[in-house]
Amino acid sequence: MKDVLVIGAGGVSSVAVHKMAKNPDLFGKITLASRRQFKCDAIAKSVKERFGVDIATAQVDADDVDATAALIERVKPALLVNLALPYQDLTLMDACLKAGVHYLDTANYEPRDVAKFEYHWQWDYQQRFKDAGLMALLGSGFDPGVTSVFATYIKKHLLDRIDTLDILDCNGGDHGQHFATNFNPEINIREITAPARHWENGEWIETPALSKRQVFNFDQVGAKNMYLMYHEEIESLARHLPEIKRIRFWMTFGDQYLKHLEVLQNVGMTSIEPVLYEGREIVPLQFLKAVLPEPSTLGTTTKGKTNIGDIATGEKDGAQKTVYVYNICDHEDAFAETGNQAVSYTTGVPAMIGAALMLNGTWKGEGVFNMEQFDPDPFMDMLNQHGLPWQVKELPEPLKF
Ligand code: NDP
Repeated sequence: MKDVLVIGAGGVSSVAVHKMAKNPDLFGKITLASRRQFKCDAIAKSVKERFGVDIATAQVDADDVDATAALIERVKPALLVNLALPYQDLTLMDACLKAGVHYLDTANYEPRDVAKFEYHWQWDYQQRFKDAGLMALLGSGFDPGVTSVFATYIKKHLLDRIDTLDILDCNGGDHGQHFATNFNPEINIREITAPARHWENGEWIETPALSKRQVFNFDQVGAKNMYLMYHEEIESLARHLPEIKRIRFWMTFGDQYLKHLEVLQNVGMTSIEPVLYEGREIVPLQFLKAVLPEPSTLGTTTKGKTNIGDIATGEKDGAQKTVYVYNICDHEDAFAETGNQAVSYTTGVPAMIGAALMLNGTWKGEGVFNMEQFDPDPFMDMLNQHGLPWQVKELPEPLKF
């Protein structure tokens, strides 16, 4: 059975649903449910206009386990694809266990009141998914997701041993706005303002947020400032590929973006501590989200490319070697195909691919899994077939920083 239930109707979901509908050999009936049904209906209309495929829509509050389980029992999908927010990961995993269906997401659980994204909450579901004979696939987006699969591809085909891994995420796109985030602003700003952490010789090294900068020349984008950050795939890669001595994550930000962020931070607008406003508690960051452009509206104006990949140094046939595996995605091409910019596209396509590999049994298991625990080859083939082609380069020397 290939029927799928997608939860959440933002930019990532829109891309994933368009891609699922475009591939009827991989997916059966598609049902899209979210907090506000009109968002699902808008995606369904676009899918119908572009590909002539009908998808069903529904309303659901994914924080409500019983309501979600009841929806699952009515729709009877083989798989639930969680493209809502990280806050809903645990309730949706509970609903899957209750209704007996497999689970997939693109971002790890984050409690609302602590900006800390760690895997242990979801890894704790291992036994329950195993006992139920169900599979949960965590982090099937680009980073985490594709970057994790690139690491296992490097390990399988390019290096006998990986010593250091650097994940480089560059968005060279310009949306023409003074300040906007390319995916959910609340999640995005929580991630960027958290202290940087990387993995080195078996322990976490923490440095202040945005305090370590390097310049890197990205293929088809050019030289950009990139900053050391914490990112969730470091935690799972350190666990599943323990031979790697150092794992770091870098993301590019423009000066204009950082200037706005600094001011917003200084005046307290990025805080997640509730404040009293006219007799009512509000969370400054949630208010900020409400006044910023919705990421899904940026597609019409965004130009340029993303370039995201892994640089690994290690040993091949007894000699040191450095390899770079990366994908370049064009914002305007992504928008022409699905009506969404490249940041949503590069997340929604891997979500569709992970779902397809689970539905056809290519990736299967009982319990909770991260992407790097499976054979990378079928995933890498599908990236090439479904709009995210990748390339491999050998670099003359390891990164100098
Ligand atoms: P959006 O904010 O655009 O979309 C989230 C959707 O979830 C919205 O439609 C929202 O509803 C819905 N939603 C929120 N709360 C609930 C709820 N309680 N019940 C039902 N639906 C709910 O986010 P994005 O599309 O940009 O991101 C989606 C996910 O992808 C996030 O988890 C994000 O962290 C992850 N991501 C992962 C990346 C990766 O590479 N791995 C990269 C980028 C994003 P409403 O429309 O009513 O607000």
